[in-house]
Amino acid sequence: MKTNSAGFIQVFKSRWIYKILAAFIAVVLIAGGAHAVAMRLSIAAAFERHLGRMNENMQGMMGGGSGMRGVNLYESFTAAVNDSLWISALIAFIVSVLAALLISRLMTKPIHRLTRASRAIAGGDYSHRIPPDEISTDELGLLAQSFNSMAEKLESIEAIRKQLIGDISHELRTPLTAIKGSMEGLMDGVLPADKSTYQQIYRETDRLQRLVEDLQELTRIDSSALRLNRKAIKIADLVQAVVVPLENTFAMKGVALKSQVESALPQIVVDSDRIQQVLHNLLGNALHFTPENGHVVLEVRQDGDAVLFSVQDDGIGIPPEHLPHIFERFYRADKSRSRAAGGGSGIGLTIAKSLVEAHGGKLWAESKGKNKGSTFLFTIPVE
Ligand code: ADP
Repeated sequence: MKTNSAGFIQVFKSRWIYKILAAFIAVVLIAGGAHAVAMRLSIAAAFERHLGRMNENMQGMMGGGSGMRGVNLYESFTAAVNDSLWISALIAFIVSVLAALLISRLMTKPIHRLTRASRAIAGGDYSHRIPPDEISTDELGLLAQSFNSMAEKLESIEAIRKQLIGDISHELRTPLTAIKGSMEGLMDGVLPADKSTYQQIYRETDRLQRLVEDLQELTRIDSSALRLNRKAIKIADLVQAVVVPLENTFAMKGVALKSQVESALPQIVVDSDRIQQVLHNLLGNALHFTPENGHVVLEVRQDGDAVLFSVQDDGIGIPPEHLPHIFERFYRADKSRSRAAGGGSGIGLTIAKSLVEAHGGKLWAESKGKNKGSTFLFTIPVE
């Protein structure tokens, strides 16, 4: 009952309903007007015609009484009204059909426009839009607006898809070319069939494997198939779990790794594996981009309603022109250096950012410029 009355009220809020109502009224008025005008124009002629016939009849009968004349006059009048009614009804019908056709053509114009636009989109023309000056203020106008925003979204998805395919092919080409080159060298006897050649091929296949794994991870995150297994954790334990296995790798490169965790931090409810993955990525990058004798500090402290994690290094830094882009897929500030030094594919930070955002936090980077070190910071809100 409640939904019925709500639906009934909704009908009166609809502008489109008023347009249809106005169209009906317009057709009725046009039909009525045409009828009245046609009747007004035709009745005099019809009456005259019937009067003429009556006079002819009377002369033929050679003088009837006045009562007889009254009856004949009355009959002529009703016959004339009937004639005129038929003619004007026919004219009113034709005029109202024409008016209804014209009005429905005007009213369905936006629907035809929408149909044409959706056909264009279905045909792959994602740039097609309904011009703003052709968008009405009724429900069809709202539909046209939603259509335009849908088309905009589809266009940007299509652009991302194209760029992604281009980027992936580019990323695949480099290791594949290197593997193919090494194999050709081996076959032609130009390269020695020794450990270093096989190690080089192994490194390239390893890069390919990492790229594929990163892409799979990215797809999982992008398609919202990511399930966070959130639990209340102790931050100090989490930091230990990340730092301890890395100590040896840092020591081997001669980079000092320090962790500072503020005491009495509040508990956070997170997917521990995922946050470890983020920290692992940031520390891995810090190690990669910090030369020998450098320093990396992982710090965790409370910052308002959130816990702030920061990974600071005194490595090669990030020039300001690259800073806004490093979280984009496949973006590397220094591509040649990254590749030559066994760097990643430029997806690590994209994944890390998505993982932090899935926890309701924010990840960003700060750097004073080239060779001035970098700091990566992220927040995790306290529940
Ligand atoms: P990659 O797999 O290439 O490391 P990331 O997405 O992790 O990809 O990083 C993207 C780019 O950001 C890197 O190629 C590098 O140019 C820059 N970058 C990331 N971390 C650091 C850092 N600690 N110091 C300097 N540059 C960094």
